[in-house]
Formats: sequence, C-alpha cells, structure tokens
Amino acid sequence: MYDRLRAFEGRPAATAAQGRDPVNQPMIRHWCEAMGDTNAAYTGPDAVAPPTMLQAWTMAGLSGHSDDGGRSSAHDELFALLDGAGCTSVVATDCEQEYLRPLRPGDTVTFDSVIESVSPRKTTKLGTGHFVTTRTDIRANGELAGTHRFRILKYAPAARSKPQEDPKPRRPRPVINRDNQGFWDGVRRHRLLIQRCTACTTLRFPWLPGCNHCASPDWDTVEASGAGTVFSYVVMHHPPFPAFDPPYAVALVELAEGVRIISNITGVPYDTVRIGMPVQLEFLRVDDDFELPVFRASEA
Ligand code: ZN
Repeated sequence: MYDRLRAFEGRPAATAAQGRDPVNQPMIRHWCEAMGDTNAAYTGPDAVAPPTMLQAWTMAGLSGHSDDGGRSSAHDELFALLDGAGCTSVVATDCEQEYLRPLRPGDTVTFDSVIESVSPRKTTKLGTGHFVTTRTDIRANGELAGTHRFRILKYAPAARSKPQEDPKPRRPRPVINRDNQGFWDGVRRHRLLIQRCTACTTLRFPWLPGCNHCASPDWDTVEASGAGTVFSYVVMHHPPFPAFDPPYAVALVELAEGVRIISNITGVPYDTVRIGMPVQLEFLRVDDDFELPVFRASEA
C-alpha cells in the first residue's frame, strides 16, 4: 500500500493554475477586518497584501475547481486511494509559508502545486493514517512570490470506546433558567418568542436578562412569524456526538424580524443547504418530552 501512496510523491496537484481574482484591496480589507489587523502597510495607495494571505489568492471558493484548468487529478486519486484503505477522515495538521516578495493590488496570481510527500503509516490519538504534504509555489505576474506548504493527516478514526450497539442516547436537554424560561415555555406552545426591550424596542435573541443597546432590564416578547433565510451554515461530519446522526446541516437562520437563531435545516438533503435559502419554522418532536424549533427548506 505504501508503495502505491509514495508513487504520488512529486506528482502535480495543480499546474499553471490561475488565482480566481487578482490581488485586490476589497479582499485585503475583509481579511484585515476578520483578523483585526490594523497595520498601515495594508491600506492606502502603496498598500501591500498581508503576507499570510498567500493561500487565499489560490483558493477556489465554495463552488469548487471546475472553472480553472490547472488542477490535476493526482490529489483526488490519492485521496480516493486513502479512502479505499479506510482513511476516510481528514484533519489539517500544519502549514509553513515562505515570503519572497510582497503581493500588491493588481498582481496576477498563478500557482503550481505538487504532492511533496506521503508519510509511512502513523498512529496518532485520532487514528492511524498518512500525512500528506502539498507544496504550492505562488507567483505574482510570473515572479515567485512565496511558497505555501500544507500538511494534512488522512486517517481511519480510532475505534470508539463505546460499542456501537449501545442504546441511542437522548438528545441533550437545554439548560433552562429564569433568564430563558419564557423562550422554552413558548416552544412548548409552538411559538418562537423573541425578546423585545420595552425601553428602546430593540429585539434580542437568544434571550438575555438585559438590553445590549440601552441596558434596560424591562422586556416583553414578539412572536416570530416563522419566516427566515439561511444566513450561514456548516455541515457537521466529525466528531460524532451521541444522539446526533452526521452529516447534518447546522444553520444560522436570520428571522424575518431581523434576529438570528442557530438551528437545524430539515426537508432537504444536508448538502443542498445554501446561504440565502428561504426557510420556515416548524417544531420537531425529538422524543417523548422534548421538542425543538427547526427550519424547513423546500427543494428548489
Ligand atoms: Zn433597549
């Protein structure tokens, strides 16, 4: 097996691939805001991109790789081989970057990636598998600007300590206290209640003892209409939690009233959930004495 894996060493993962966008100020600004980096070098007419953005300029985005011809199939073939050997899980372990010249707005980004090494079989706390290191050389206007070396562990998850045939545990119960009692009382009556500050009318969710806007402790509630849209989401694969069946979609739903709630999306396959998808509140009976507000999407 290891001989077959090692045969991938030196094979290209991408050749003369194009960055999706040239280096540009809006992406630099979003990055700096997300990182909280206020360094003056990244703004103004002589701005450069933060060096740690190196990989960002090569990323294909959520919609994948179909629109650039530079990527080779070697990486997919290697992963398929590892999947077939039971190494179905993946975790990023570390990354090294080397910066040779700054990237500036307007620079065109091209890159070449190579599968640099595949380790012998290793056992870690997570499980047994192989480390795969990919090296990407990134060029700006054809000139080498930096190198990004990325290592992942592709592994077979360690056997769980509990046998699988254990009776399925119940979903965890919410912790109900005097600050959120009213919310759960509402759920029992199939009403999704949002707190409203009676001093300044600001809506708030989840429930809190006071208003973040004006600090008033006085509130009443408004009932959500149940209409919402998916503001963001993740698909949960690993680690598995007792009582949950991955994969499933966990969404941040923006209610029509403007506040956001974390919940599950039902009614569509987990991999079709998308940002902006309209959803409608419903109540899911989890077990004999527990219901939860969830959001149903309809198939497009
Ligand atoms: Zn208020």
